[in-house]
Amino acid sequence: MTISHAELRQFPVQDDCLQLGGIALTRLAERVGRTPFYAYERNHIQSRIGLLRQVLPAGVHLHYAVKANPMPALVQMMASLVDGFDVASGGEMKIALDAGMPSPRISFAGPGKSNAELRSAVAAGVVLHLESEDEMARAARVGELLGIRPRVAVRVNPEFELKYAGMKMAGGARQFGVDAERVPVMLRKLGQLELDFQGFHLFCGAQNLSAKAICEAQLLSVQLALRLAEHAPAPMRLLNIGGGFGVPYFPGERPLDLAAVAEGLHATAQVLSAASPETRLILELGRYLVAEGGVYVCRVLERKLSHGQVFVITDGGLHHHLAASGNFGQVIRKNYPVAVGNRMHAAPREVVTVVGPLCTPLDMLADSMELARVEPGDYVVVFQSGAYGLTASPTAFLGHPPPLEVLV
Ligand SMILES: *Cc1c(COP(=O)(O)O)cnc(C)c1O
Repeated sequence: MTISHAELRQFPVQDDCLQLGGIALTRLAERVGRTPFYAYERNHIQSRIGLLRQVLPAGVHLHYAVKANPMPALVQMMASLVDGFDVASGGEMKIALDAGMPSPRISFAGPGKSNAELRSAVAAGVVLHLESEDEMARAARVGELLGIRPRVAVRVNPEFELKYAGMKMAGGARQFGVDAERVPVMLRKLGQLELDFQGFHLFCGAQNLSAKAICEAQLLSVQLALRLAEHAPAPMRLLNIGGGFGVPYFPGERPLDLAAVAEGLHATAQVLSAASPETRLILELGRYLVAEGGVYVCRVLERKLSHGQVFVITDGGLHHHLAASGNFGQVIRKNYPVAVGNRMHAAPREVVTVVGPLCTPLDMLADSMELARVEPGDYVVVFQSGAYGLTASPTAFLGHPPPLEVLV
């Protein structure tokens, strides 16, 4: 069985060796000093953002969702490329502030913000995306205590949901946001509190490869926000309509049609600017900006034959890259794109199963995949690994050292 993948051409190959940031993988591995490691390529991320800037309507602000990859050096680079950051914890807020992003351009979303997080967020001056009436009351109390008027936006849980999203985060009963029908009452209370109302936030879902579904959700989000804004105590200065742009991971998946998304967003942005010209429209993207610019690299320790099947045992696995093992949100395990980085097109090829060193059958990086024939010491590369990699993995499981990370 040969498993094919969306063609991966984001990194060049020279002398059969993958090049990252203009450096041969074998040499980069020597520079890093040990495997496994993650490598993120500046050039790829910069081009991705450049492409978005080219096609998106001019007034749209582009935010980076730090959750996708919070490596401080990467976030630092992002600070000069995007218009704002979205964070979802006190820890991410610290990274965002350290990177030099001005606090009014940082938004803090997520259910269950602690009082300590609210306090430091209000002191910092970031925009709190309120996820409940209780959180609104707590934010107002913190503001009173500190003598600061907290900047707030209301995260809305709309009635509609994002079709074809890999992960739905709105529509129906959710732990995220405030049900749309309850928002008018909440806004009346908000007006009686010492809170600086900024606008609304809607985030419908993630990992969507359907331009049509994204465009529909964006238009519905703007229409809903305009209706809710009639109940707001102050003008709607910002409207964050989320993102959810997906990237292809698995056999048969096609890249998102960005031109179609941009076309829809031009129309949607016009609806907003006609009704509310002062409102800043914000798109928040994590995965789409960084996933394809990153790889995970591990080394072959051993080849093993069992009942006629070849197992390639590596020093990397699910403890570093849970998503590639298929255990982060997948229902049926599918292979991430994998290659042998120092034998990209070499013959002979064979069908193998690539596993890690952990004592669990879940620790698998590629199931029955055709790869170049490997020897111990060769480099196994997992593509599409720049988002939800290291920090979305159980690094303490089995007690192996964590992987390194480089930005090249
Ligand atoms: C996770 C998350 C994002 C980022 O989603 P991606 O799929 O990485 O683009 C953006 N906004 C919010 C509120 C999130 O929770």
